[in-house]
Parts: sequence; C-alpha cells; structure tokens
Amino acid sequence: MPLARRVAAVIAMLIILGLALLAHRSVVLSKKEIRLKGEAFGSTYSIVAHAHFNIPEDELTRQIDTRLKELGAVFSLYDPNSELSRINAAPAGVRVTISADLHRVLSESMRLSAATDGAYDITVGPLVSLWGFGPGREPAEAPSDAAIAEARSHVGYRHIVYDEGGLTKLRDGMVLDFSSKAPGYAVDEIARILRDAGCQDYLIEIGGEIDVEGRAPTGQLWTIGVESPEEGMAPGERLEAAIRLPYGAVSTSGSYRRFKELGGRHANHIIDPRTGAPASSAAVSVTVLAPACTVADGLGTALMVMGVDEGLRWIALHPGLEAMFLVKTGHGFARKMSPGFAEYLTPLD
Ligand code: ADP
Ligand code: MG
Repeated sequence: MPLARRVAAVIAMLIILGLALLAHRSVVLSKKEIRLKGEAFGSTYSIVAHAHFNIPEDELTRQIDTRLKELGAVFSLYDPNSELSRINAAPAGVRVTISADLHRVLSESMRLSAATDGAYDITVGPLVSLWGFGPGREPAEAPSDAAIAEARSHVGYRHIVYDEGGLTKLRDGMVLDFSSKAPGYAVDEIARILRDAGCQDYLIEIGGEIDVEGRAPTGQLWTIGVESPEEGMAPGERLEAAIRLPYGAVSTSGSYRRFKELGGRHANHIIDPRTGAPASSAAVSVTVLAPACTVADGLGTALMVMGVDEGLRWIALHPGLEAMFLVKTGHGFARKMSPGFAEYLTPLD
C-alpha cells in the first residue's frame, strides 16, 4: 500500500476508534446520582454520590458490594470463619498469617494505643465479653474484681507482635476486637472506590461512621447531624447539633445506645482497659472530626475512655483532629469542644 493511502487508512481507523470511544463515553459519562443502602458490620450503610462516573453504575455497585463482603470476612467477630475468628482461636506463640487489610487496621490501632497510652486497645475483647457486650453469655450481675483481674491478664496491645505477613499473640486467651475501627476503615475503602470511579461528591455512612467529600446533590456542603444522646431514642430521632464540612470523616461514640444495668451500675460497651470496667466519663457522647474515617472511628472510642478533660487535652496536642463531647445536664446537654470544632458547627434547621 502506498504511504499516503496507509496514512489515510490509519487516520480513518483513528477516527472510527475516536467515534467509538466518544459513543462509549457518552453512555457512561452523563452525570449520575446514586443512592445505595444495605447492611454491613451488623449495622446499616448508606451512600449518596453524584458524578460523571467513569464506570457503569452496576459495576460500581458490584465493586462496593464485593469490598464490603471482603471486609466482613476479615473483621467479623461473629462469623466463626472470619480471619479475625481464626486469629482469636489461635493459641499463644503461634504465628498466624494476616491479610493486608488486617495488617493496615492493626497498625493503625497500635499507633492509637501507643498515642493514648492504652486507653484505646483492640485486645480488650475478654473484658468486652466479661461485661456481656461481645459474642457469648449475658452476665447476670457485674463481674467480681477477681474476674476482672483474670480477664485483664489476657488484655494488652503490647502482648502482640506482628509484621506485614503475620501476627503472634504472646498470651493465651487474647481476643482482638476491631468493632471500633473496621466500619471506619470500610468507609475509607468505599471512598477510595468512589474516587477511582471519578466521583468527588459523596457521603458514605456505615453504622454512624461517616466520610464526606465535595457537595450534596443540592449544591450545598454536606450537613451531618449529631444526634441527642438520649437513651432509648431511635437513631437520629432528635438532633443536638449539625456540622457542615467540605471533606473529612465524622464519627460519634457514646454510652447511650449500648448499655445495661448490672448490679446497680450503668455499664456501657466502651471499656477502659486501664481499669477493666466500662468507661465512666461524664460525657454521654463524643463526636470526632478527622481526615480519615479509620482514624475518627477508633478515636471516638478512645476519647470516651479518656473523658472530657483528658480527651480535650489530647486533642489540643494533635493537629487535624477535633472533638465535641456532650455532657448531660439537668436540662439537655452541654457541649465541651476543641476550639477548631466550633468552626464546623452550623445552626440546626
Ligand atoms: P459503636 O460500635 O457504637 O460505633 P465504637 O466505635 O465506640 O462504638 O466501638 C465500641 C466497640 O469497641 C465496643 O463494642 C467494643 O467491641 C470495642 N471496644 C470497647 N472498648 C474499647 C477500647 N477501649 N478500645 C478499643 N475497642 C474497644
Ligand atoms: Mg468508634
């Protein structure tokens, strides 16, 4: 074929390819709003996103669904076949292989344990069960000091050695519990999937752990309600405050939703590993703002253990993190917050 004809043929080919691409792009690049709801981590999730997605909606939904299932198979405390259950069943001194997901969340947890001097500790499992908040038996009364001391002998983040490939428990009876971090990590993972799909405007929420970016479909910044931490109220039934932010994670931990009366004592599901007893902060809830939801999720739990004064001192030493505690008063709730938190508050409609 003469050169000129060859060039013409290649150009024609390119034009056809270009047209095909354009046709394809016009299918998937129209601006779409997606709303997904479902169940994950024993709770519910919801996602609102709008963008010129670079993949079809069913492909995006499939990716999110697959990722949530994968993470459930890693972190579930209640599924006997999960990776976590396999780790928890292993005896001390035996190295168990771990996935990249588990390694990431474990490393992040260990950093937070070290930074909070053990207020946060994912090895708290035996104490969580002792107080009846984990899998297993419901106690009839508050555990004795001896039972607490026994459970505490199996708790301690320093009794774990790990690297990227594996983990070894140094004491028998250790039980890891990622309930206060895995949902936050899952939120971050979904955020990554959405961003990879070309989305810069989304709100992701799993069991109250939230991450936002960009704008709501209304064109406004996302507004997130902080619920009144009243015992017995349905989630979101009444709001105490509202936060408006351009991007970042929001997590609320509290003692008002999962609690019980045990031997005349009000016990909640957040345990102070330093005493072996439920956290007894004056605050009923704390709302945390952080750049990533994996961080925000665990930090809320840690701050409930530290309490208002220690917690706010800790926040002041850690730039990029903000917190607001709600303390019950005779007539509602008092807000105790870091100065930076106030900038994100917006009036309730
Ligand atoms: P929620 O599950 O209500 O969002 P959190 O994120 O605060 O609440 O997680 C609380 C869970 O974390 C508890 O149910 C328990 O399984 C676990 N946990 C309790 N105390 C601690 C602690 N001091 N450090 C780490 N995890 C904890
Ligand atoms: Mg949490």
